[in-house]
Amino acid sequence: MQEIRYELTKTPKTKPAPGDPLPFGSIFTDHMFVMDYTEGTGWHDPRIVPYAPLQLDPAAMVLHYAQESFEGMKAYRTPDGSIQLFRPEKNAARFKSTHERMCMPVVPEEDFVAAIKALVKVEKDWVPTQAGESLYIRPFCIATEAHLGVKPAETYQFIIICCPVAAYYKTGLNPVKIYVEDKYVRATPGGTGYIKCGGNYAASLISQETAEALGYSQTLWLDGVERKYVEEVGSMNCFFKIDGTVYTAPTVGTVLPGITRMSCIELLKKWGYKVSVDRLPIADVMKAGKEGKLEEVFGTGTAAVISPVGELRYEGEVAKINNGKTGKLTQKLYDTLTGIQWGKLPDDMGWTT
Ligand code: PMP
Repeated sequence: MQEIRYELTKTPKTKPAPGDPLPFGSIFTDHMFVMDYTEGTGWHDPRIVPYAPLQLDPAAMVLHYAQESFEGMKAYRTPDGSIQLFRPEKNAARFKSTHERMCMPVVPEEDFVAAIKALVKVEKDWVPTQAGESLYIRPFCIATEAHLGVKPAETYQFIIICCPVAAYYKTGLNPVKIYVEDKYVRATPGGTGYIKCGGNYAASLISQETAEALGYSQTLWLDGVERKYVEEVGSMNCFFKIDGTVYTAPTVGTVLPGITRMSCIELLKKWGYKVSVDRLPIADVMKAGKEGKLEEVFGTGTAAVISPVGELRYEGEVAKINNGKTGKLTQKLYDTLTGIQWGKLPDDMGWTT
């Protein structure tokens, strides 16, 4: 990457005071990272500039054909006041695989990580200090070429923005009720389920609305072919502890390879749990629920880290999990991961930077 040009704001915003509410994704920091891509030239002009609206031609191809990618990660403030990232190289690798699938130019992985570090350094005073708070980082890329006609664009912008966010759970883990979607699908083999492109999320909204109307907070997605196997829950990966074994769906084309999921699998194996990364029929989950063998269910993702599930509803039938309370393993994974992320536990796994 060329040397980053810095154009710092002369009118910094008032930062939230410690303890102020930080509603997720709505307060943005003073600066953003921007880098352009032009066919033939490659990536050029990396810069950190004041956060501001973009200027886009109305014919910009992202607006018509949705050539778009994004990532989600956090910077954490540790007890000694320093700031750390959690496995940023994994986000860089996933961003690369998204770009390959979307026919977008790859941002070299080391440049992706260097850009994040440079921006977080500039915005270091925006990384909040209260327990459980963090700086959410949103790298994304859009096709900017002004052209109507379906083809890969010739120009792009790679942008990174940040927002300080509150602790997801303020008063301890709180199990959620999940609606198993049996009509709409999120992903099909050969499609884009394994990458992070905006279109996946636009197509998922209708199910989220149905779930909320029924009093459930998120959707559990089944596979798109047989609608038989569990895949993901909302925008999280999903784990099921049944009769001592921990199950999670394989990431073979339709499931996003979550970095929290990967970290949970590594921890579970280290702790000696039997982990089955295999297709699990929803019928088996509901049966285990009836037989009292469905011990724990939880979602994993950067935003909430670990999200316990207290209830599943599938085709009108309801399975209660652990009497709607957070399970022991769910809590242990949460405590361990958040301990490492916020630097309160030693990072034996070498995950933080
Ligand atoms: N699945 C989907 C569909 C997601 O959007 C996310 C959030 N990135 C995840 C799973 C969890 O991924 P991660 O642990 O990397 O945040």
